[in-house]
Amino acid sequence: MRIVEVRELTVPLAGTPANAVVSFAGHTVSLVALVSDQIREGRPVTGLAFNSIGRFGQAGILKERMIPRLLAAAPEDLQASDGSAFDPAAVLATILQGEKPGGHGDRSGAAAAIELAVWDLNARLAGEPAYATIARAFDRTLDPTEMRLDVPVYAAGGYYYPDDSIGRLRHELERYHGLGFDAFKIKIGGATLDEDCRRIEAALTVAGAGDRLAVDANGRFDTEAALACGRAIEAFGLRWFEEPGDPLDFALHQAISKAYSGPLATGENLFSVMDVENLLRYGGPRSGIDIFQMDPGLSYGLTEYGRMLDLLEQYGFHRSGCFPHGGHLINLHVVAGLSLGGCEAYPDVFQPFGGYSERCRIEGGRVTPGEEPGFGLEWKEGLAPYLEQLMAGL
Ligand code: MG
Repeated sequence: MRIVEVRELTVPLAGTPANAVVSFAGHTVSLVALVSDQIREGRPVTGLAFNSIGRFGQAGILKERMIPRLLAAAPEDLQASDGSAFDPAAVLATILQGEKPGGHGDRSGAAAAIELAVWDLNARLAGEPAYATIARAFDRTLDPTEMRLDVPVYAAGGYYYPDDSIGRLRHELERYHGLGFDAFKIKIGGATLDEDCRRIEAALTVAGAGDRLAVDANGRFDTEAALACGRAIEAFGLRWFEEPGDPLDFALHQAISKAYSGPLATGENLFSVMDVENLLRYGGPRSGIDIFQMDPGLSYGLTEYGRMLDLLEQYGFHRSGCFPHGGHLINLHVVAGLSLGGCEAYPDVFQPFGGYSERCRIEGGRVTPGEEPGFGLEWKEGLAPYLEQLMAGL
């Protein structure tokens, strides 16, 4: 059993909302296909995945460095010991040959696209949804009485619009509510503190209670501004205050965690186990309060993410506090398979990758993955034309 070809297609993201720091116009995603030599129904079994949304495609790193290393490897070095599946950790080690530690940058997203495609490929080889493959690989129970597949989900959005920003914010959240969501996240930090408080008040008229609404500053503030924001919003009793400052400014994070009583959320810009350990050592996260948002698609895939979970548990944190960044099918299967705290969803933006497929069920603020093999990307509305292009001739 071997991987015979690896393809990459850079796909533009539709929609141009903005958060406090960046506009998403121009963002792209690397859609990857791992083509195996196993033939089912006349076609090769192919693993499909992508790196995360809200960033950029990684065609250069993939095509110049990682794909050649993978195709040059001995097939037996990439297989699980019983030969029935591919070994994601072995694939990751192979595509990282010659790379030095640290300085992760875009490399960790490029590697993630391939590593996650291995999970999709293994699930398709086993004829099961990816959450089942993931749960088994990480020794999680598959007993349906103990493992809940319907995971909590919140609708993320609440971006800044150039006109009638607050009115459009309220309408946006009302629309999400109509789609079955009962928790929300909006952007802050892109306007004055007074204006952001008015945005929060408007959002609360839809969310109903502070614990149904999170805010995300996307690393906008310095320590003084983050502390001021924390003081201004503390009384709202929000679900969480996300990325108040630079995600690698652990002293800032520690200062906020001492001053702000509500939950803080961070981690989407931590791309390795070592990054996470630095947050735990120096950022002052509080067990049972704070939220971790590391995203396998940004951080070398599920192999590295599993090591991050082990580390969190060694430090006394619980996986129920993990809400991976990136609301899409891949992370839904990760959250369900690993019994994490929940998912986000982007009903309006980051298309065609954001949100879930018709095979998933969203109701009562929970989302359940479909039972089709793998991550089920072929069922995601809008992705099919890109998958056809990626897999042309197979
Ligand atoms: Mg965020």
